[in-house]
Amino acid sequence: MPVPSIAIGARTLRIANIFCVARNYVAHAAEMGSSIGPEPVVFLKPTSALMPHGDAIALPDWSVEIHHEAELVVAIGRDGRNIDRAAAMSYVAGYALGLDLTARDVQRVAKQNGQPWTLAKGYAGSAALTRFVPAPAIPFPGEVSYRLEIDGETRQYAEASQMAFDIPALLVWLSQRFGLTEGDLVFTGTPEGVGPIRSGQQLRLVLGGLIDETLSVA
Ligand code: MG
Repeated sequence: MPVPSIAIGARTLRIANIFCVARNYVAHAAEMGSSIGPEPVVFLKPTSALMPHGDAIALPDWSVEIHHEAELVVAIGRDGRNIDRAAAMSYVAGYALGLDLTARDVQRVAKQNGQPWTLAKGYAGSAALTRFVPAPAIPFPGEVSYRLEIDGETRQYAEASQMAFDIPALLVWLSQRFGLTEGDLVFTGTPEGVGPIRSGQQLRLVLGGLIDETLSVA
């Protein structure tokens, strides 16, 4: 399969790595029976996890519990290693909202057995994205709020100011441990309120007046 790309304004980026922060909001960590340590917990999705824009969300037949995790997603615009916090935001090309779709039943078994989350978190179609907004449109990403509505009811609401590791902190840490690559995506973690999705539901992702897109579940 060709590596997918995303459009940000006039720019097209080929997706490189897809980093996902496992817990970055205290209330979500608590609902998962966990807490937040001194460093981010990060996992990867393969590029084949990206759901093509305009598709419906598919529910795989090997899971009975696909959960929504609504997240602010950062696209990286240039390569960087060991970057400074003061320069971190200059590596951002744009922002989207995304769904870190999770086969919670499969993840639960993986956790019990000490196995990786790759299938639970990285199956084909497990990374859904809205369109990207160029970085200059969001000068203060640490102050945005966003929400996920399902069939008209707000199910998740997040204020980026409540992140345990803010966007510059995440980018510095990723640049030190992995390096940042042009085309990387960073799913910055979900707030509380995760839960199962069902066929026929309409999932609406909203960020201020900048992002408002609805995805349906097939
Ligand atoms: Mg997540």
